Amino acid sequence: MIQLNDVSVRYGDTYALRSTSLKLHKGQFTVLLGASGAGKSTLLRCINMMCQPSAGTIDVVGLGLLQNRRVLQAHRRQTGMVFQQHQLIARRTALQNVLMGRLGYHTTLRSLFPLSQEEQRIGLRALDRVGLLHKALTRVDQLSGGQQQRVGIARALTQQPKLILADEPVASLDPATSEKVLEILRQICKEDGISAVVSLHQVDLALKYSDRIVGLAHGKVMFDAVPTDLNENV
Ligand code: ADP
Ligand code: ADP
Repeated sequence: MIQLNDVSVRYGDTYALRSTSLKLHKGQFTVLLGASGAGKSTLLRCINMMCQPSAGTIDVVGLGLLQNRRVLQAHRRQTGMVFQQHQLIARRTALQNVLMGRLGYHTTLRSLFPLSQEEQRIGLRALDRVGLLHKALTRVDQLSGGQQQRVGIARALTQQPKLILADEPVASLDPATSEKVLEILRQICKEDGISAVVSLHQVDLALKYSDRIVGLAHGKVMFDAVPTDLNENV
């Protein structure tokens, strides 16, 4: 559904990505695994075209090259982003935050409220998917880190995405909470047929939750394998 062809990204003398080719498939839970500085964020930002490749092309299968403005907008509409630091609005409720994804970050808060019943229904359904219906009316700064991350996932879900990109979504969470968040992402992927690309630096979590692991180091893809094959080859 999306394909990177020999993509390189250079910052001055540093290559954040070197001639990377990658084809993502529908409904697949892909983990980008690598140490800090390996190029994971850059690769995720390329997939959403939040960063311009210095060389190579990115193609949304069926839509065309992402350089095309119309293709780019269509692609972004169907891509949900999840961040390490949630990027939630602290003094707003979980439900209000969730609907920011759907209505656009550029929308002023004033024009967002009061929420229509239809909007509320969409937001509540997304919160239910991540097990947080009971926190819908709680301000997000009253929630734990894991709960905030789940609100971030619910926000991405309200866009009805075909693809979810998550940059180190569990980096600031404890191990048990990390597993809960990855389990939710995995379930969404399987049940809704959404593809997810999630960057992680923990090998054990990648092996446990992904369908496919893309190992990155120094901006290069070192391996691209399914977890069971990796288990057999070590
Ligand atoms: P990761 O997500 O795996 O930690 P990044 O994609 O953030 O890796 O970074 C890959 C490399 O590119 C690093 O060496 C980083 O310092 C460099 N880099 C990333 N973004 C920038 C930028 N905006 N300006 C300069 N260098 C950058
Ligand atoms: P989970 O594992 O489900 O993410 P936790 O076990 O971390 O949640 O938190 C349990 C409860 O404690 C939650 O209902 C949450 O609202 C509350 N809580 C956790 N951390 C904070 C915090 N920093 N501020 C306010 N409430 C918190």
